[in-house]
Amino acid sequence: MVFKCQEDSFLKEFTSKVVVCAKVKSTDNKSETPDCYEVILEDTILFPEGGGQPCDYGFLNNIPVRQVIRREDKAIHFIDKPLDIGATVKQTINWDRRFDHMQQHSGQHLLSAVLEKDLKITTVSWWLGEEVSYVELDIQQLSGNDIKRTEDVCNEYIREGRNVAVSIYSKDTPEEELAKVRSARDLPADHKGDIRVINIDGIDSNMCCGTHVTNLSQLQVVKLLHTEKSKRKDKILLHFLVGKRVINRLETCIDRERKLTALLNNHSSQHVELVEKLQKNVKTLNKNLQTVLKDLAALEASKLKSLQEQPRYFCMHRKEAEPDFMNSFIKEMGNTEIFLFLSTGDEKGVGNIVLYGNEKAVSELGKIICNLLDGKGAGKGNKFQAKVNKMVNRKEAEKSVSDYFKEN
Ligand SMILES: [Zn+2]
Repeated sequence: MVFKCQEDSFLKEFTSKVVVCAKVKSTDNKSETPDCYEVILEDTILFPEGGGQPCDYGFLNNIPVRQVIRREDKAIHFIDKPLDIGATVKQTINWDRRFDHMQQHSGQHLLSAVLEKDLKITTVSWWLGEEVSYVELDIQQLSGNDIKRTEDVCNEYIREGRNVAVSIYSKDTPEEELAKVRSARDLPADHKGDIRVINIDGIDSNMCCGTHVTNLSQLQVVKLLHTEKSKRKDKILLHFLVGKRVINRLETCIDRERKLTALLNNHSSQHVELVEKLQKNVKTLNKNLQTVLKDLAALEASKLKSLQEQPRYFCMHRKEAEPDFMNSFIKEMGNTEIFLFLSTGDEKGVGNIVLYGNEKAVSELGKIICNLLDGKGAGKGNKFQAKVNKMVNRKEAEKSVSDYFKEN
């Protein structure tokens, strides 16, 4: 069956009768699962997913349609409330979503046809994503020049405003006649009945069940993005945007550029140069900071060593320091009787700790502190090091050290 949406893809409202309305059995036992009904109508303007194109959303009277799927030659609408069999219902469509799908899908046919025609590259599959779509190509790589040229050719065809038309072939059409169309890959495996062929004037003929524009000018523009390796061997994915998505992406980029211009206080043509400079500065500053912190570690250690009355333990935290800071401190302390609990990193997040001192105390407190700070570490002899996730519990860890030395 050819659905109304396939016959006229620009219909936004339609009236039809309910043929089937059946309650869907819930697959889980949760009583709060909302009711769901499967509805079949005499005909529909809501496209059931297929051929790489996602389903339409819309309304049956005032009831939102959650999903539409195709089962053999029937379109099944999923809704939350029942409808009377035989009742007349008004169908309305979420047109923005549908027109976006039409732009991406017809754009994909155009792109695949140009790749095939000009570069002999075959499209083996495609994906209509929520933000970006891609064609999977039977090739290992595609040069920047080929991408640019393909994009130019696609946009030239769009400017020419070539017609896009649908021809219907009956299921009895001889194989040799059908072999003239490019491929049958867009047809679902359980397809029954008439075969639709989408023709782009002078460029392409392709079997497909999707909804399409009637003229390439309705695509506005095609923008090819990057390529990446496919999960399948010797194939790549070429990402693309068509029509409104190109404008939306441009808007996002312009908005981001405006914010960056305000932040960097300079013209956008200098953004990259400025950020590179900033990154370099941050690196140098951090290097200098670590040197100063190491000096500070040595100073703190010598202060501790020179105390007249030596404490049994000593705890210290430096949020901005790297683990090197703790090693410098320990090195400076040399052979010491003082038990050391040192830590660095985000006071409320992740960080590093080092315990240093008597082997028994190090091993016992290592376990306790790792438990408290959600850490994972390893110790050898009089030193224990760990990465921790809950530095926020550091005060409790310090208390466990002081308790330990009261008892031992
Ligand atoms: Zn298609």
